[in-house]
Amino acid sequence: MQHFPVFLAVAGRRIVVSGGGETALAKLRLLLKTEAHVTVFAAAPEADLERLAADGKIRLVRRALDHGDALCAVIFYAANDDEAEDRRVAKLARSDGALVNIVDNLQDSAFITPAIVDRDPVVVAIGTEGAAPVLARAIKADLEERLPTTLGLLARIGKAFRHAAEALPMGRKRRDFWADYYFTSGPEAVEQHGVEAVQPALDRLLARHLQAEAKQGHVDLVGAGPGDPDLLTLKARKALDQADVVIYDRLVTPAILELARREALMINAGKEGFGTSTAQDDINDMIVEHALRGAHVVRLKSGDPTVFGRLDEEIEACETAGVTWRIIPGITAASAAVASIGQSLTKRDRNSSVRFLTGHDMTGFAEHDWKALARTGEVAAIYMGKKTARFIQGRLLMHGADPATPVTVIENASRPDQRILSTTLSQLEPTLTNAHLTGPALTFYGLAPRHALALSLDQTDVLPAEGLSL
Ligand code: SAH
Repeated sequence: MQHFPVFLAVAGRRIVVSGGGETALAKLRLLLKTEAHVTVFAAAPEADLERLAADGKIRLVRRALDHGDALCAVIFYAANDDEAEDRRVAKLARSDGALVNIVDNLQDSAFITPAIVDRDPVVVAIGTEGAAPVLARAIKADLEERLPTTLGLLARIGKAFRHAAEALPMGRKRRDFWADYYFTSGPEAVEQHGVEAVQPALDRLLARHLQAEAKQGHVDLVGAGPGDPDLLTLKARKALDQADVVIYDRLVTPAILELARREALMINAGKEGFGTSTAQDDINDMIVEHALRGAHVVRLKSGDPTVFGRLDEEIEACETAGVTWRIIPGITAASAAVASIGQSLTKRDRNSSVRFLTGHDMTGFAEHDWKALARTGEVAAIYMGKKTARFIQGRLLMHGADPATPVTVIENASRPDQRILSTTLSQLEPTLTNAHLTGPALTFYGLAPRHALALSLDQTDVLPAEGLSL
């Protein structure tokens, strides 16, 4: 860097210009934006200069510059369109102690004038060391387009409000407040109701931020159930009613999202199966970030949040950030699915335990105690098992499971488009292939629909939901 950019204090101080033509006028257009006292020396000033003098914008001395004329000037411009005259006046000004610029003579100048984007008090100066004025102009045009013309106005009003904003704690809270003002509330106020609306908007904004500051954020980890809004708990409904932010999963149905508070910010954090852990990290960050800003966050998860919901990672994130949390349980897919086939998860003399399995975990297919599962009378609810049916089937048969063991697949449990596929272990894979499942599906190993049992169906049978009024 051959030139160091600084902003020079010129208010109430002297700036002297030598020259009476267009070059001097061009510099004056910039200089007159400042609060400096500008004096121009010109033996033959152009009419525009006379006008500026008449308007009291400049002091015009109608003669060539002489010794002592640039005394006490902070900066001096030689703008005579005459090399010899420029050299002469520059020498005089230097000896008077001024910082000298000779227009279009980088070599002999003590400073250069940058291209300026003026959103006073926000000022952007662009310099290219004189190498590429075209580039400087292009950057200037680009910035002018990008920085709203109201920015200066907002900054001026904002500057006077700095003291009041100190009611907010320093750092992030205060930065959030100002960012909201400059980029959202401020421009909106000017656009909709003009300049007068800015101050009241600023007052309201501060009140809002102070209130949010006083409010402690909180996270509810809520079970949304299997899809039917009537299967939500009352507690879940209340939480949705109070939420500032709802971060929901892909499987949460629109009918349930409808129940959230109107003003709540709705964020879709949907993840597909076999997803990476990065997405979960992003979700954790999002939950914590909103809570730290004072929001009541409802983390809405399908079914029950404690079942294959990666709940612990979210709790961990809350704990680390010092955010309070609670779990609101929901009806898990297995409960809704087993209800739809008129069966119990456990039954005296059949199975005294039931396993909840996942077809895949984060690394791929999930391994289980296949040998134990292969025993007669075992019941397992398999989550996320669509893509892994062949794997599960193979493992169980390999460990001696009876190929005729009943298997029931329930797609979209509790929803209007619910489907029930009744099959056997040996037929599981072709059944799933033929059914072209598109919704979430839960597979019961060791359970058949009650009425299908009664009918002794041993073949694959697709039952519509309404066929089950037993
Ligand atoms: N926490 C959820 C499970 C999340 S894992 C719960 O307790 O239900 C997602 C898996 O749940 C899906 O792949 C599917 O196997 C199952 N699932 C969720 N909703 C379902 C529904 N309405 N019908 C059938 N299976 C469902």
